[in-house]
Amino acid sequence: MIKKLIRKILGTKSKAVRDTNTPVVLGPEAHGIDPRLLSNNAVRVTSTLQEAGYEAFVVGGAVRDLLLGVKPKDFDIATNATPEQVKRLFRRAFIIGKRFQIVHVMFGQDLLEVTTFRGTTSDNAPKDEHGRVLRDNTFGSQAEDAERRDFTINAMYYNPANQQVLDYHGGIEDIRAKTLRIIGVPEARYREDPVRMLRVVRFAAKLKFAIEPETGAPIKVMAPLINNVPAARVFDEMLKLLMSGHALACLQQLRKEGLHHGLLPLLDVVLEQPLGVKFVTLALDSTDARIHAGKTVSPGFLFASLLWHQVLEKWTAYRAAGEQTIPALHLAADDVLDSQTEKLALQRKIGTDMRDIWSMQPRFERRTGKAPYKLLEHLRFRAGYDFLLLRCASGEIDADIGDWWTAFYEGDEITREELIASVHAPREGGGGGDNGGGGGGGAGGPAKRKRGPRRGGRNRGGRGGEDGNANSPAPAHDGGAD
Ligand code: ATP
Ligand code: MG
Repeated sequence: MIKKLIRKILGTKSKAVRDTNTPVVLGPEAHGIDPRLLSNNAVRVTSTLQEAGYEAFVVGGAVRDLLLGVKPKDFDIATNATPEQVKRLFRRAFIIGKRFQIVHVMFGQDLLEVTTFRGTTSDNAPKDEHGRVLRDNTFGSQAEDAERRDFTINAMYYNPANQQVLDYHGGIEDIRAKTLRIIGVPEARYREDPVRMLRVVRFAAKLKFAIEPETGAPIKVMAPLINNVPAARVFDEMLKLLMSGHALACLQQLRKEGLHHGLLPLLDVVLEQPLGVKFVTLALDSTDARIHAGKTVSPGFLFASLLWHQVLEKWTAYRAAGEQTIPALHLAADDVLDSQTEKLALQRKIGTDMRDIWSMQPRFERRTGKAPYKLLEHLRFRAGYDFLLLRCASGEIDADIGDWWTAFYEGDEITREELIASVHAPREGGGGGDNGGGGGGGAGGPAKRKRGPRRGGRNRGGRGGEDGNANSPAPAHDGGAD
């Protein structure tokens, strides 16, 4: 009441006096959402819940995307029905989650997350010693649910039945002003959940929104709190960041703000290696391009790329200490995987993929006899080959090798025989027995190979593979196996 009075007197909609218990209601003319961007299944879920007498809305990122005229990649639904009540209404619905129960409703392959309105975190919710909320299990009103969401632009509710948007925190204004603003007191919100700092960066880069100064200010100081978050959760958020289609922009933004220290353990490593930056840039560029083209991306390939220069460094060191090429590479891979598994909770399967991709690399040096045919049969050949092309494109190894493999991969039987014949013995024969030499003189690894001059840009192979990536300076990688 008093707030409303003040607002009336001031004649403003200043944030300080916004009544966050009563939403601003916008009709279709005011918000301009194109209903065709909505998925049928999202409408199916909200209308089923509403017909059963509950409130139900599309919420969060989907509303934000609808308002931006973008087709949402998935739809979250918020309701006042409890998880049990939701589950009863759908044939394929599963209650998941311990920290806070949500319901997964499935239609074929399509999955929708249905969440019961959550209450605002009470002061006596269990927290860790740094103030991070450990459990947050109370249900609440829609206004409370809005208040505990992260950003104003993520806290709007859309009802497909009457096409109204409910906006509790000025999300519409912020969307129009392209501003990312956290709800509540920034320090307190980051303390409750430090992952929100990663989300700020991801959304700013992805949406090309400016971070409102008060929202951005505490991050530099509070970034180390990320270290107390369970590694699996940081990993999930990091994967979202890397798979957002704007990974490169996200990392540049982190760097620009000096946040690459502390926010993501992996980046401390990645962005500090001058030689690695080119490689990582190409890898992320290619990942972003794939996401925009609707193609899959393999997390194994992604992390293998991010950590490759760390592997290279250690590989060189082991070789300098007298290890043979191949065992040295395995030792280097072990070291890197061990340290990152601890920090990042890399899943086993991802670690295995990374190791496969790395350990395949010296095998590309062996281009005589049956070796190339054997490599072609490797289950992860395509990923290893794409990785090789990245190494070429970054100038780490001679582009000829990549060209040769492109021609071999795409060539018919006769072409392949010719290619093998064209490889001169001295290139391959350096180590005699060859096994330990990983191709002997042929660019066996980082220690021997000088960075070759960049060739005139693209692969001469020209045809560029079935991915239609011939024009991309960095190759696509095959995520298909995941
Ligand atoms: P994306 O397009 O990447 O899916 P999103 O905003 O939908 O973006 P989700 O992780 O799917 O992100 O989360 C759905 C919604 O849940 C968010 O829009 C936000 O309202 C809320 N949310 C998610 N994570 C948090 C968090 N850490 N703190 C508060 N609210 C959150
Ligand atoms: Mg989402």
